[in-house]
Amino acid sequence: MYFIDVILPLALPQNFTYRVSEAEFEYLQVGMRVAVPFGKSKMYTGLVVVLHQNEPLLYEAKEIHQIIDQIPLINTYQLQHWEWIASYYMCTLGEVYRCAVPSAFLLEIETVISATAFSSATEAQLTDEEFLVVEALKSQAVLKIHEIAKITNKKNVVPVLQSLLQKQVIAINEEITETYTPKTIRYIRLAERYQEEDQLIGLLDSVQKALKQKEVLLHFFQLQAKSSSPISLKQLTEASGASMAVIKSLIDKDIFEDFYLQTDRVSFAAKEGENKLQLSEAQAQAFHSIESEFAKQDIVLLHGVTGSGKTEIYIKLIETVLQQGKQIVFLVPEIALTTQLVSRLSAYFGNKVAVFHSKYSNNERVEVWNQVVAQSEKAQIVIGARSAMFLPFSNLGLVLVDEEHEQTFKQQDPAPRYHARDAAIVLAKSHQAKVLLGSATPSLESYYNAEKGKYGKVILSERFGNATLPSIELVDLKDAYFRKKMTGHFSAALIEAISNTLAEDKQVILFQNRRGFSPIITCDTCGHVPHCIQCDVSLTYHKQKNQLRCHYCGFSMANPTSCHACSSSHLSTKGFGTEQIQQELQLLFPETKIGRMDQDTTSGKYGFENLLDKFKNKEISILVGTQMLAKGLDFDQVSLVGIMNADALLYHPDFRAFERSFQLMTQVAGRSGRSNALGKVMIQTYTPQHPIIQYVCRNDYAGMYTEQIKEREVFQYPPFFKLIKITLKHRDYDKLKQGSMWLYQLVKQHLALPVLGPEEPVISRIRNEYLRVILIKIPAQSSLLGTKKTVQKMLDSFERVGQFKAIKVALNVDHY
Ligand code: ADP
Ligand code: ZN
Ligand code: ZN
Repeated sequence: MYFIDVILPLALPQNFTYRVSEAEFEYLQVGMRVAVPFGKSKMYTGLVVVLHQNEPLLYEAKEIHQIIDQIPLINTYQLQHWEWIASYYMCTLGEVYRCAVPSAFLLEIETVISATAFSSATEAQLTDEEFLVVEALKSQAVLKIHEIAKITNKKNVVPVLQSLLQKQVIAINEEITETYTPKTIRYIRLAERYQEEDQLIGLLDSVQKALKQKEVLLHFFQLQAKSSSPISLKQLTEASGASMAVIKSLIDKDIFEDFYLQTDRVSFAAKEGENKLQLSEAQAQAFHSIESEFAKQDIVLLHGVTGSGKTEIYIKLIETVLQQGKQIVFLVPEIALTTQLVSRLSAYFGNKVAVFHSKYSNNERVEVWNQVVAQSEKAQIVIGARSAMFLPFSNLGLVLVDEEHEQTFKQQDPAPRYHARDAAIVLAKSHQAKVLLGSATPSLESYYNAEKGKYGKVILSERFGNATLPSIELVDLKDAYFRKKMTGHFSAALIEAISNTLAEDKQVILFQNRRGFSPIITCDTCGHVPHCIQCDVSLTYHKQKNQLRCHYCGFSMANPTSCHACSSSHLSTKGFGTEQIQQELQLLFPETKIGRMDQDTTSGKYGFENLLDKFKNKEISILVGTQMLAKGLDFDQVSLVGIMNADALLYHPDFRAFERSFQLMTQVAGRSGRSNALGKVMIQTYTPQHPIIQYVCRNDYAGMYTEQIKEREVFQYPPFFKLIKITLKHRDYDKLKQGSMWLYQLVKQHLALPVLGPEEPVISRIRNEYLRVILIKIPAQSSLLGTKKTVQKMLDSFERVGQFKAIKVALNVDHY
């Protein structure tokens, strides 16, 4: 008897064994997919990991339904990598499988709901429940039935769906295997009998009277003379200016033939002549140091100030790896930002650059995947967000991680909760590939590794060209308020700096850490802040509907006229978002075009690109935005950057808050003065003397590092301790409290390590589920693997306790 073990794309702790025939056994290889029945009526796409002849003892192996692949979808580098991820991040192989391959490869039949185009007008007619569904669809393309049940907190979702269908805001589909349909292009060639030279004269004679047809033919010959590649219909119509009808009549006369060839959706034209790149002296030096470091070790950290031209160094490095015929993966923190980078890289490498990210359609992702499998030139360089590292590389030469400090490299939910930088380092090792981490503000962990000699370190401390680092000016908000020098959230100094910049025809970037409008309402008399009844968060004020809303669960109430606690009618709005900044600014500068960049304005595949284009073309003079602004944008006309409120960054209950504030401020500041003109940065703050703000002003990364690393050691945080975070969730407060205490004590007893908790997190309830957190700290020198095994054992015991069964547990290794 013949068997295979398969991974199913589910959160199940083990693989499953299925029976196959001898012929199937001969045919199958590790890494191929098979459709297998599972449970009562479900069919899943399993992945073969072992072929064997050992009949399972505990259950009768079912037969597979069918074999899907002719060649393995997954190679052994990938399988090995998945195993590492599952073990290190404490999740199942099924979860890694589900995350690592494009969903087009995982067939599953399920009803899904998607949004149709809706306007804010229809939004006003929605009930609260319906609003929740619509809100959720804004951040997620499709919802499954069980997800809607969870959002509305109802078992029967049919009434809500029916009503939403009636209002034409949703569509219902059966999602089945997304069959991959390659896009084809229509080409034109001469019919076979005219392909001989001596037939051509007769041919031209035959269309002597049809002038338009003759013209098309002549253009066709011209095109043919110019290039040896086939001539597309589009090329021909463009060159000849002829209508389709004329070409069609030539096809009807059997003079032309049309045919179809497959093309790639994702293609970029190389701009000829642009691939001459001259590194500056400082860049060349950095480049050579990287090369000589690579001779000694596999991982190098490039610490280059903002605007130093790190991208050009990456390009040089890519060139050398291309020459070895190897593959390159280039990870970036924010997919929205690939546009600028892709156009820079394609200028050098043309069609060798492929892009891979979640906003691409399934078809596009499958295409890139297939190109990587085939080791096609077209995907020799892949740029992408964290998931690009899961592509089927078989000959990887270089991993680039740009802005390596960015937290978007860490996947928080769902499992696998992996960090793409760290996982990519492991992947590179198995390929014996090199890794370059680049940043102007490295993470403390990477810098620490470089200091300890674990990574090579290369420094680039000057900006490219004649540009210098911008000068930084602090505005003391306390003082400005006291002297009544504030208009809304703008100090007189900032307003003046903005007018001066605009007068010089330069551009301004303003950074505010929050989107939306005036988040909360407070009582001026007693300080009460209205909170959500289902979640432990304050409600957000929505001006348009004059409502308070919860951003976690969608609960809403009318904006109160008096305080719920003390009945005072003196209520005011506190906190401010990008939308409000934009409005205030428009009043201050009525003639100026202002753009806003945050999650609300950049949704959609091209929303972000349109905004960037407008800013680049100077259709917009001031850009107001959130975090997105900090990630590597390059605009040469920006000479002023304003940070609206630095304090909002500093006071986060997180051990990385100071490090992150430094990084964010330095990065945002780095958008200023990137060309020759001297740039300026203005930081508004209540605490100008705060050490972090002082480090930012002096551009003193090393000072910040030295101070913070000491704190980390004293308070037992990374890189000196590894952290495992266990989050427990349940609707019943007491049961959760009891359960988490039980688990905490068990873990504490079995580990001679610091264990914190079980604590209520800052937001201690979401969608009526309470949360508790247990944090395990593992000293760098003790066994991580051993500790994880113990923790897993404790969790298994926990799950066996009947009364705690319903408590959900999520594990997060290196959660920060
Ligand atoms: P970083 O990523 O280090 O902040 P960039 O790579 O964006 O810096 O470079 C900053 C600017 O300087 C870009 O506009 C880039 O095109 C330009 N630049 C950098 N190096 C060169 C070079 N060697 N030749 C021409 N332009 C360069
Ligand atoms: Zn009150
Ligand atoms: Zn809520």
